[in-house]
Amino acid sequence: MILDGLKEASLIEGHLRSSVTSLKKRGINPKLGIVLVGNSAASCLYVKKKQKKAEDLGISSTLVHLKKETDQLILADHIKKLNHRSDIHGILLQLPLPAHLNAFEALSHICPTKDLDGLTPYSVGLLSMGKPYFVPCTPQGCLHLIHLWKKNIAGLHATVIGRSMLVGKPIAQLLLQQNCTVTLAHSHTKDLQNTCHHSDILVVATGQKHLVKKDWVKKGACIIDVGINPLRQSVTGDVDFQDVKGKAGAISPVPGGVGPLTVIFLMSNLIKAAEHHA
Ligand code: NDP
Repeated sequence: MILDGLKEASLIEGHLRSSVTSLKKRGINPKLGIVLVGNSAASCLYVKKKQKKAEDLGISSTLVHLKKETDQLILADHIKKLNHRSDIHGILLQLPLPAHLNAFEALSHICPTKDLDGLTPYSVGLLSMGKPYFVPCTPQGCLHLIHLWKKNIAGLHATVIGRSMLVGKPIAQLLLQQNCTVTLAHSHTKDLQNTCHHSDILVVATGQKHLVKKDWVKKGACIIDVGINPLRQSVTGDVDFQDVKGKAGAISPVPGGVGPLTVIFLMSNLIKAAEHHA
């Protein structure tokens, strides 16, 4: 089973479109506020993609584009201004920030009711208490794909490779809430191949091209590949797709797996924020 993120994204998009229409009928025009610091090509591209998707869905957006040299206080100031704007329903701080800036501190200034990425300490706290409100978008995409494979995953052993705040930790929390038994692995984990080999669900988010091969995978397992590693003309994942696909029960491709769902769940979080605002 190939877990087709593009197809799922377009199905969810249909629902989001109707939500935007009904919000507008109630006089609410959902609006996204994006803060971008610097001119990193990748970040500029991601921001453009998010703005384009918002526009496609009838959501307006405003971009606060700050110079690379912006200091922590000025950045906090801009975030606070967006917090106070009643026409802005959700805020996205594009990461990574330039090296001199502290992302944790900057994220902490986002009002929890506008925290589209679910990365403020408040949102992270709610998720770890089992009471999630805004959940980071990529982990939502991973769980959506896993549920295409099996609706009830209680009692299954899930291994997540990668422990970032953005992907690894929140997907591990979501799987725990689904009553999976979760192993959260990282670069210091011993005997990782053996752990993976016993896992019914494997989520890989390391940025290590083709780390996971066929002999790491349990027959029939669900494999979610989050990794994005550049090739000359395209990208590839952290899982060796060609090697693994015949052994997995379900597998998400790169590109076309988790990626398209990330931006869709961002829009879904924005609509939720606009509904909350109403
Ligand atoms: P980070 O660099 O923040 O984290 C990588 C994690 O992988 C770390 O926890 C690291 O361990 C672990 N790791 C690295 N190498 C190994 C290894 N050989 N064995 C076991 N663990 C390892 O990355 P992100 O979580 O931000 O992103 C991961 C990947 O997902 C990237 O390729 C990124 O581009 C992609 N991504 C894709 C998205 C999408 O929409 N599809 C969205 C976000 C990210 P340690 O903590 O010990 O250093």
